[in-house]
Amino acid sequence: MTSIQSVLSERVLNLAESETLKMARMARELRALGHDVISLSLGEPDFDTPEHIKTAAYEALKAGYTKYTPVSGLPELTQAISEKFRRDNSLDYKPEQIVVSNGAKQSLYNICQALLDPGDEVVIFAPYWVSYWEIVKLSGGIPVALYADVDSDFKPAPEQLDAAITPRTKFVLFSSPCNPTGTVFDRAELRAYAEVLARHDHVFVVSDEIYEYINFTHEHVSIGSFPEVKDRTITINGFAKGFAMTGWRLGYIGAPKFIADACSKIQGQVTSGASSFGQKAGAVALLSDLGPTEAMREAFRERRDIILSMLEEIPGIKANHPEGAFYVFPDISWYFGKSDGQIVIRNADDFCDFVMSSAYVGLVSGAAFGDPNCFRLSYAASEAQLREAIRRMKDVLGRLK
Ligand code: PMP
Ligand code: GLU
Repeated sequence: MTSIQSVLSERVLNLAESETLKMARMARELRALGHDVISLSLGEPDFDTPEHIKTAAYEALKAGYTKYTPVSGLPELTQAISEKFRRDNSLDYKPEQIVVSNGAKQSLYNICQALLDPGDEVVIFAPYWVSYWEIVKLSGGIPVALYADVDSDFKPAPEQLDAAITPRTKFVLFSSPCNPTGTVFDRAELRAYAEVLARHDHVFVVSDEIYEYINFTHEHVSIGSFPEVKDRTITINGFAKGFAMTGWRLGYIGAPKFIADACSKIQGQVTSGASSFGQKAGAVALLSDLGPTEAMREAFRERRDIILSMLEEIPGIKANHPEGAFYVFPDISWYFGKSDGQIVIRNADDFCDFVMSSAYVGLVSGAAFGDPNCFRLSYAASEAQLREAIRRMKDVLGRLK
């Protein structure tokens, strides 16, 4: 007898649930049962959207921005994005090369749908954001991990990139600042990658810069600004992180015109344009004073310093020194094989389950990001929560022998 479940497609059966969203859901469920959970699992700023951006959305609603917009975005927003790319990134994308979507996640989905045929390869810097892997698979592509560990600050060597590229490679995908590691690639490092890519002119670059404004080095470099890859770079960005607008669902790309057109064609059949009043507010966000964004960045930097000094006090945690985003991605392989007398920690999944069930602190296992020796901690939480979470972790980890 066939099970009723066999109605589901191969596509969805092969798809993993988003681990970041799953951990956030588990934290909510445990909280509903009355547990005092501190969830450091979700990459979501704990700040509210700055007031002037909210006001712009109210004003847009009042002014009747309640209708469909062009699929690629309202002209004033694509114009504002074009200006922003020039101002902040030395990138020259014309408004017609821009596509606004329901979040950067959809931007990436459009790109994968537009570029990948079955069997095409995508070289993904690892550790990677969970959805990169699954969206590539969902689109028929083959994800290929380009791995670097904590000792190299999670930065693959240019020679590794060169070796990973095959005639089937369609594009290379990475984020800087990086989710999950917080790693920021500097100008020299990006130039070295661009030089490698110059030798492989069939390969495109997809550069996810959604954490651009949460960069503690004060220099954000866009790989698309290098002449070697300028005409082959798709730059993804969005409003969720830098403007604390996760719930607004607003992201965008700048791309070669034929790719922007292809993404727009796909979006026109799937979701149409993003919300009209959200787009009006997005234009205001990009063109007004970035003071509130800078204040959030400074708060994240202070928390980064706090969390790193607290983690140092826990034995066996080898933390990286992230220069951006709001994540730290420590290696905890020292704990593998240790036990509290009941549970044996075999990998990062076990480690995170143990911390959740005994300390009620939500982390995400590095396995979901392509590194089973690590966990991801999002420090987009208050200082009091961070201190309490680390205190609890130190306490329960001390039981492992
Ligand atoms: N890229 C990265 C690296 C992210 O961390 C996220 C977080 N959600 C996204 C893209 C998607 O952002 P959005 O909320 O705009 O879909
Ligand atoms: N990007 C965030 C994270 O990594 C939000 C959750 C998600 O979309 O995966 O936690």
